[in-house]
Amino acid sequence: MNVVLVGLPGSGKGTQGAQFARRHGIPKISTGDMLRDAVARGTALGREVASTLDAGGLVPDDMIIRVVDARLQQADAMAGFVLDGFPRTLPQAVALDGLLEGRGAPVVIYLEVSPDVILDRILSRRICESCGQADTGAPTTEYCASCGGGFVKRADDHVDVVRRRVVAYVENTAPLVEWYRDGPTFRAIDGNQPLTDVARAFDAAVFDCMKSGHPPFR
Ligand code: ADP
Repeated sequence: MNVVLVGLPGSGKGTQGAQFARRHGIPKISTGDMLRDAVARGTALGREVASTLDAGGLVPDDMIIRVVDARLQQADAMAGFVLDGFPRTLPQAVALDGLLEGRGAPVVIYLEVSPDVILDRILSRRICESCGQADTGAPTTEYCASCGGGFVKRADDHVDVVRRRVVAYVENTAPLVEWYRDGPTFRAIDGNQPLTDVARAFDAAVFDCMKSGHPPFR
């Protein structure tokens, strides 16, 4: 079950991707999380990408392709995965097709949301430092409802950086959505609905692809 999630920053890829992965027993692979983790641990990769993340730009294609290539070869990703944050450019999408040769084309789920809700969602977003779950809207609890962990703000969830991330999306990722749209394993779902409705639509879209006999499954 190879699933790729695309959508604006704040469209719910992280939340929906994590829940889908849990429901189906496959890993959620988030390039944003991997890069933030590399920055936090001070690895060579982290030192190279830190300023790009701070600025809301995109790290170079060849660098992120190498990171994803290594991750997709790990044993837990062999039976399937949910990719969140990759591909983000056309060259990354072409590279992904190459990486998945013999493993089936990915189902591409486009989480469609109105651009005007994005900024509020992201600026109010708090991330649980233990389990990574996001909480948005007016804060109602001090601790994570799932695990009781404390919340932190993502360093790039500030208004100027969010604006630059949206520009990066419009310039690089929106054309990619159009490129995928004509393929047989592309499905757009309405990300403005309540979380549980989005989750249901997400499952339905992936299983609809399976039913149609397209080859996301080995
Ligand atoms: P968003 O909420 O903007 O979707 P992510 O957590 O997916 O954020 O990514 C955070 C940052 O990591 C991006 O702004 C970008 O700098 C970098 N990044 C993540 N994935 C990629 C990628 N596939 N290509 C280039 N840069 C990436």
